[in-house]
Amino acid sequence: MTGALRPPSLRWAEIVAVGSELLVPPRLDTNSLFITERLNEYGIEVRAKAIVGDRREDLEAVVRAALARTELVVVCGGLGPTDDDLTRDAVSAVTGRTLREQSGILDGIRQRFAARGARMPEINRRQAMVPEGADVIPNGLGTAPGLWLEHEGRVLLLLPGPPAELKPMVERVVAERLAPRAGGGRLHRRVLRICGRTESEVDERAAPVYSRWVIGPLPVSTTVLTSPAQVELHLSVRAASAAEAHARLEAAAADMACLFGADLFSMDGRVLEEVVGQLLRDRGWHIGVAESCTGGLISGRLTEVPGSSDYVGFNAVCYSNQAKASVLGVPPALLAGHGAVSEPVALAMADGIRQRAAAEIGIGVTGIAGPAGGSDDKPLGTVVIGVTTADVRVVRTYRFPAGRARVRQFAAQIALDLARRVLLGVEAGRAFVFMPGTGVRR
Ligand code: ATP
Repeated sequence: MTGALRPPSLRWAEIVAVGSELLVPPRLDTNSLFITERLNEYGIEVRAKAIVGDRREDLEAVVRAALARTELVVVCGGLGPTDDDLTRDAVSAVTGRTLREQSGILDGIRQRFAARGARMPEINRRQAMVPEGADVIPNGLGTAPGLWLEHEGRVLLLLPGPPAELKPMVERVVAERLAPRAGGGRLHRRVLRICGRTESEVDERAAPVYSRWVIGPLPVSTTVLTSPAQVELHLSVRAASAAEAHARLEAAAADMACLFGADLFSMDGRVLEEVVGQLLRDRGWHIGVAESCTGGLISGRLTEVPGSSDYVGFNAVCYSNQAKASVLGVPPALLAGHGAVSEPVALAMADGIRQRAAAEIGIGVTGIAGPAGGSDDKPLGTVVIGVTTADVRVVRTYRFPAGRARVRQFAAQIALDLARRVLLGVEAGRAFVFMPGTGVRR
């Protein structure tokens, strides 16, 4: 207990995720990622995290060690009503604070059950047990309340495991209790996304600029993350003033726009399908997508964006030659003469879907994702992407890195990017093209 003294500031945290189910596939500990993000925003750094199964002695040992090291220990899970929910007991044992039933919590749990016409099972009484001196954090979405316990200058925060219950509680605790004690200003972020350059190219060009950013009163930190055919730059600034942070990040983003031009497709965190969707909406255009090796991935991404029915009407997955001919109208002679994975066929697929969807722009994608089906002149990972409008026809042949899933992800990303570039009237990106002489506008 802190008495009349000002409570100590919080700069470091550890997270303990509780539950044997989190130690085996397929359940993942996503709560700690969410908590980390929120803590980081307020300058509280997570220095360790652990996953512990439902064994009381293990849980006690981990919580005891975390408390010995760190100012803030967040424990999530194990607050349920069953015998394997041991967080309360372990915390009571580690801190020496007796658990006492709180009638207010018990009444709340009873009412939750009564509202559904049910009687509260006796085992739920456990959820009303609170270590001496802990503050109760109400849970509007479940029976287990959260608990905030100040112990010997440290803070223990106990949260329920279900993410839907934990998230609103974290938001509230961060705003009401942690932000005033974090002290280091808030972390402001900006995500920039680039397509058409490899990670090393991006790094080589941008490194001299990053080194200028770290000088001065508001240094910008940069993290580079890659995914198929995309490089992300995560920029962050710690500042007390949102306006100052915004101006700093805006200037940094502008530096990157100068370096990367049209390859930098997003400066505000939007993903590629959102950017393409906005370009379509701006023009009042529709897009049609004919997919072979991507099997609907492009269509899935486009339609994940709310409101995409404004610009998506009819897309098609045409895997077989017969489907390419009958659904898209690709001439059988073209398929026989050039093969399904060829530039004339990709263009014919784009034209075919564009006409059938009554769209202004069409994408055709055909390729060999593997693991079988490669040949000397069309090795595994060969993908041909065509994009056509009434005035422009662009087709490119790519060789993507091996692995069926990766080839499909690369193809979907590059196809969306090619469509974006056609909509903007800029040249296609250079990375990954492998066929000499391709990439010309025909
Ligand atoms: P209750 O038992 O009342 O639901 P609890 O606090 O005891 O709450 P757990 O039983 O540990 O929580 O977890 C309930 C569910 O919440 C788990 O089955 C799991 O789906 C999810 N969950 C628990 N911990 C995590 C975590 N760290 N990350 C993501 N999901 C989690």
